[in-house]
Amino acid sequence: MRKVINAGHIIAFQDGGHRHLTNGHIVVEHDRIAHVGGGTFTGQADEVIDARHQIITPGFVNTHSHLSESPLDKSFVEDRGPRNFYLSGLFEFLTARKGAMTNEARKAAVDFSMHELIRTGTTTIVELGLMGPYVAEQCEKAGLRAWIGEMYSSTTWFTDDGRTVSYRPRGDDGAAGLAHAVKFVEDYSGRANGRIQGFLSPAQVDTCSEDLLRKTKALAREMGVPTALHTSQSVPEFQEMVRRHGCSPIEWLDRIGFLGPELIMGHAIMPGGSSWVNYHAPDLDLLADSGTNVAHCVWVYCRRGIAMDSYAKYLDKGITMTLGTDTCPQSMIEGLRWTAVMSKVQDRRTEVATAADVFNSATLAGAKALGRDDLGRIAKGAKADLLFWETASMTMTPMRDPVRNIVYSAQSDDLHSSMIDGVFVMRDRIVPGYDLGTLTANLQKGARHMWDNMHVEDWAHRTIDQLSPNSFPEYRA
Ligand SMILES: [Zn+2]
Repeated sequence: MRKVINAGHIIAFQDGGHRHLTNGHIVVEHDRIAHVGGGTFTGQADEVIDARHQIITPGFVNTHSHLSESPLDKSFVEDRGPRNFYLSGLFEFLTARKGAMTNEARKAAVDFSMHELIRTGTTTIVELGLMGPYVAEQCEKAGLRAWIGEMYSSTTWFTDDGRTVSYRPRGDDGAAGLAHAVKFVEDYSGRANGRIQGFLSPAQVDTCSEDLLRKTKALAREMGVPTALHTSQSVPEFQEMVRRHGCSPIEWLDRIGFLGPELIMGHAIMPGGSSWVNYHAPDLDLLADSGTNVAHCVWVYCRRGIAMDSYAKYLDKGITMTLGTDTCPQSMIEGLRWTAVMSKVQDRRTEVATAADVFNSATLAGAKALGRDDLGRIAKGAKADLLFWETASMTMTPMRDPVRNIVYSAQSDDLHSSMIDGVFVMRDRIVPGYDLGTLTANLQKGARHMWDNMHVEDWAHRTIDQLSPNSFPEYRA
């Protein structure tokens, strides 16, 4: 099967980086790009796609998500960030939410995520969660490319007073969770023409023992899969690691040999040396020197008043900076935009964290983190994971620089179509197999049940209205 795309603009890969090709074509054979060139293609084709009024870019690699939970953040976590936990919602909000979610609500969130991710530019998703088989099934159905890791840990955190974080051991130091995660990789990696891959995801730096992380590293090497770990994601976590080990979380990971190019570190937003922790440590150098990848999820933090200081400085250090959506909305379009803007604000400089920088992060850097040089680029031999953007729309016109327009102006409606593995997973904004009416009804139902049960696991048994009052009081009718 040979498909030919004649396009007005192509962000194509040449000489080691992205280039802007005006009036060109892409030949897709089965799941891969067979040829990229200038002008209109004149050879034989089974299907000719007219994209002369469109921009074709590589699909976005979204390196950090929790699909069975994140859509349920909406209408709940915004405007809330307890000062006793230095603005982090991890210890109160996530615990209360977790105890109130049904399996049905989680499935509704995964289903909803398929549609949301595709409509907003994700073609490769990295999922850290607890519903691997269901996520794999849905990604296979939707046509998404996915790296899926079942999370595990030695302990779980909790608070019983709203000001301290405690850790409850699991008893087996995470052995059962690790065995389950390894089995998932063995059972699911390579499915759907290789679109589904497994990896190892120990949950958080402060909930995993040295032994569990050492075992993880050895197994990941043996299986040839990436690892992911939340690190330097909150002040309480950072201080806990200093108390335990007399060093920063990243220094500790360096000491135990866990850093490296196969690690996708979630967040690293408050490392040693940053203003958030006021603790001197060469963490950025350690990340750069070890080749560790960072999954930067700007929105989940800046929404609460926390910003990395700064994305541009991490890039300058030579750290592989990838982008993830983490919370809701799960939009890579928003992720690119907020990453660029927040870094400029942090640095008081306009010419850093450019559209090109964040576009590279969302494509080439994400692919590198997954150890794949056939993703995140439009080049001969690469996977045909392509986004088709409008050039003429309220937000995209006038169009001179496609990448700047996508980063600073595009909305999801400007994304016309999306192709993964040479197959359209969305055409003219329609994602086949997913009815938005059904998705929203199921998600609303799941959320309603969750909101009604927040008191169950909250340490102070607060209701949703106590934990997170609505913006305005109810009108007296
Ligand atoms: Zn996360």
